[in-house]
Amino acid sequence: RTVYVNGEYVPETEAKVSIFDRAFLMADGVYEVTSVIDGKLVDFDGHAKRLERSLSELEMRNPVTMDELLEIHRELVKRNDLEEGGIYLQITRGAPADRDFAWPDPDEVPSGIVLFTFAKKLVEMPSIKTGIKVISIPDERWSRRDIKTTQLLYPSWGKMMAKKKGCDDAWMVEEGVVTEGTSNNAYIVKGNTIITRALSNDILHGITRAAVLRFAEEAQFKVEERDFTIAEAQEADEAFITSATTFVQPVVEIDGAAIGTGKPGDVSLRLREIYIEESLKTAK
Ligand code: PMP
Repeated sequence: RTVYVNGEYVPETEAKVSIFDRAFLMADGVYEVTSVIDGKLVDFDGHAKRLERSLSELEMRNPVTMDELLEIHRELVKRNDLEEGGIYLQITRGAPADRDFAWPDPDEVPSGIVLFTFAKKLVEMPSIKTGIKVISIPDERWSRRDIKTTQLLYPSWGKMMAKKKGCDDAWMVEEGVVTEGTSNNAYIVKGNTIITRALSNDILHGITRAAVLRFAEEAQFKVEERDFTIAEAQEADEAFITSATTFVQPVVEIDGAAIGTGKPGDVSLRLREIYIEESLKTAK
């Protein structure tokens, strides 16, 4: 693979970053993952906008302009012949000479930036036919989950807890209600209504979430942005998750209880279809 590191396109085996990089020492970095279908970037503008917000919340500088960023994404797709998969982008606060809790002056220590592609079947994901099983775990992350930082140890741990129980993912619960999945937003379906937690600092503002809710309303589904419990989810007709690399993915079991028929639900599958169809129209 050819990857991008601080202004250069290099083979992945030659890419290097400093051991003093603050993302390495302190998870002082933000990231985005943009999916690629048919060699095109899905909702690039949405990801670019959220990146700007994450950077500004952390007083971090973007080392490139948004036009340059689009160009780098496209160049990597081209150089790697990427048809389907995604692009990972990370901006870090750079590598000061010494480790220090206080962050450095951005005029003295420039931000670092890396991007790489990954090939993956997204449209024909095998897990869509079966749906996924989730467990619930307490949400023990920090309270600024709206900022997409590389501080991912708890979600990673949550995923492992799920795997140990023979499941695929974990939904996190705080004050009795679901916040989101380890790397996705969480939804339940009751009749014609799609229910998902409202936006706040408690969850990541999913780019896929925004698109799916918009398409759902256009397709005459009702959308309710409100809290729900694991018990309510277990009683729902359907459940699903969304993220850039899974689109809409049906959830068929929560803490051992089958949801609805125990198979991927019609509404979830319909939303998945609509999402793929509609988002391809604006893909760049
Ligand atoms: N919540 C969390 C905690 C996530 O990590 C992600 C994906 N990175 C999402 C939600 C989904 O966001 P998006 O649709 O923008 O991929």
